[in-house]
Amino acid sequence: MNDADVLIVGGGPAGSSLACTLARAGIDVHVVDRARFPRAKPCAEYLSPEASRLLASMGALERVEATGAAALAGVRVRAPNGAVIAGDFVASHGFRGFRDRGLSVRREILDDILVDCARTHGARVTEGVRVTGLATDTKGRVNGVTTLDSTIKARLVIGADGLRSVVARRLGLARAQRWPRRLALVTHYSGVGDVGEHGEMHVERDGYVGIADVGNGLTTVALVVPARRSNEISGDRAGFLHAWLMARPHLAPRFARAERATPVVATGPFASHSRRAWAPGAALVGDAADFFDPFTGEGIYAALRGGELLGEWALESLSAKTERVADKALASYDAARRK
Ligand SMILES: Cc1cc2nc3c(=O)[nH]c(=O)nc-3n(C[C@H](O)[C@H](O)[C@H](O)COP(=O)(O)OP(=O)(O)OC[C@H]3O[C@@H](n4cnc5c(N)ncnc54)[C@H](O)[C@@H]3O)c2cc1C
Repeated sequence: MNDADVLIVGGGPAGSSLACTLARAGIDVHVVDRARFPRAKPCAEYLSPEASRLLASMGALERVEATGAAALAGVRVRAPNGAVIAGDFVASHGFRGFRDRGLSVRREILDDILVDCARTHGARVTEGVRVTGLATDTKGRVNGVTTLDSTIKARLVIGADGLRSVVARRLGLARAQRWPRRLALVTHYSGVGDVGEHGEMHVERDGYVGIADVGNGLTTVALVVPARRSNEISGDRAGFLHAWLMARPHLAPRFARAERATPVVATGPFASHSRRAWAPGAALVGDAADFFDPFTGEGIYAALRGGELLGEWALESLSAKTERVADKALASYDAARRK
């Protein structure tokens, strides 16, 4: 017997967005996540103005703003030679997004609200459950997942389990990219000097660092460096990050009196993508489908939008009378996603 119509592995932005779309349409949705929320996620924590449209449709926007999230006017990128390019969301180009400002908020706060919205819309959410593999029928069609001690059956299984997705790997769809191989170190500081209303990206010859106000007196700092430096990092992440910042004459004075407020978390290498985002009985969304380089700052938007898009096609797949038609809807999702 099926445990749910749709089983979503992962309750991050992609899984929660999809769960909201499907639960609102009356589908029986079960989200399982290995973590317990609120949980941290290594991220520079910046959302472009268009992401606010998706947060609003989930019922999350006002809740996120009420936590004291920072509103960003735009982004400044500093090149290794000191040249700065500044882009404002509202400028003479005439384009206006859903909001005039972007948002910057700790993932611990954002993702907790998103998963709670999924619950509010009627999805079941089970935390602390790690999916280890897939269950299939005699024809090889996915019909559930396995955990350490059970099998959970569903008509449709979704891999929204982020980087190194177990669902994508078990489907044989995951491909590690050889380039660029990078690692990230992410933390929050209080007391950083001159943090304004723009997100900052400082590009250096040996990596780049994103810096932004995330509200409530904290600044997120996300450093990305080549993976070959992993040995230096593993001994002392916090020391490595601090030394990297203090070695930049334009950053050192701003961090001279700053204090680290959260542990330094590391992630990577993170360049990966899937050959396609569906298989019979299953689909992938968010980072599980493909990863956006952190430099773009669009991973959360893409995950939220991917969830919304997959929701439309999953409804079509679930209402299909034959497996062939159901799979065709999933293939159409993949085509729409790439477009
Ligand atoms: C250094 C860095 C900086 C970034 N900065 C930005 C930024 O500023 N702005 C931006 O928009 N994007 C940024 N991104 C990208 C962004 O973090 C991701 O694109 C986004 O989190 C993808 O959401 P998701 O829901 O697909 O995956 P995730 O947010 O990773 O969620 C996946 C969920 O699946 C769960 N899970 C994983 N495996 C299992 C399993 N086996 N069983 C059960 N549950 C499982 C996890 O616990 C997690 O909750 C950054 C990424 C990195 C690495």
